[in-house]
Amino acid sequence: MSRVAVVTGGTRGIGAAISKALKDKGYKVAASYAGNDEAAQKFKSETGVNVYKWDVGNYEACAAGIKQVEADLGPVEILVNNAGITRDAMFHKMTPQMWKEVIDTNLTGLFNMTHPVWNGMRDRKFGRIVNISSINGQKGQAGQANYSAAKAGDIGFTKALAQEGARAGITVNVIAPGYIGTEMVRAIDPKVLAERIVPQIPVGRLGEPEEIARAVVFLASDDAGFITGSTLSANGGQYFS
Ligand code: NDP
Repeated sequence: MSRVAVVTGGTRGIGAAISKALKDKGYKVAASYAGNDEAAQKFKSETGVNVYKWDVGNYEACAAGIKQVEADLGPVEILVNNAGITRDAMFHKMTPQMWKEVIDTNLTGLFNMTHPVWNGMRDRKFGRIVNISSINGQKGQAGQANYSAAKAGDIGFTKALAQEGARAGITVNVIAPGYIGTEMVRAIDPKVLAERIVPQIPVGRLGEPEEIARAVVFLASDDAGFITGSTLSANGGQYFS
């Protein structure tokens, strides 16, 4: 399978596992990142995946980035909108900047990245878009009004676009992971993790990035053509939506 796949935030954490899993399946993968050159170069040298730096919050940068990827690898047929950040605070302490940064990256980033690939997918009558939301966009999380709003928005975006893309052979789905053992989660105090977080997960452990990656590989495949507009909860049984 030599289709071209773009994975935003594809050089670290869940995105790195997604990029690697798609590459292992034979896709030509472009992994984007925001600014951590060291991690990106390390990922590139370990995996051979092409890496590209641009801010998903900037529309012009995304359009230019896609243009570059298409010149290097060919038309983009799979887009995985994975890049995400947190800027957590209880609402009374949340600043407009914390709100804006999270919405720009986690929600507007989906518009900015999807818009430049959409017409090409429509013309070629094939496309796979997989968005990475979060359990906290489904259930809401205290201290994350910005993140919960953006991630809930990702689900609405997916459902709307799935309807628009269906006749053109484009599927649009969203995965809502629970707690996954990436740097973001491993940075939490181990005592809090062991005593407060893991006990809330019925399977009794954190998820692994590769478990999300395998779900992406399926949704990106030709086999998943009848699945569109779906929200796949991957959270060890912590929440059913
Ligand atoms: P990481 O912090 O490990 O990696 C984030 C990646 O996104 C990095 O490659 C980073 O680039 C990139 N990125 C961040 N901001 C931007 C931006 N503005 N433009 C381009 N790239 C950007 O995150 P995770 O792997 O933990 O999370 C991946 C996704 O999964 C996110 O959307 C997150 O919200 C979601 N998620 C994660 C969960 C978890 O438990 N970890 C649970 C539920 C959802 P750089 O390396 O340059 O900083």
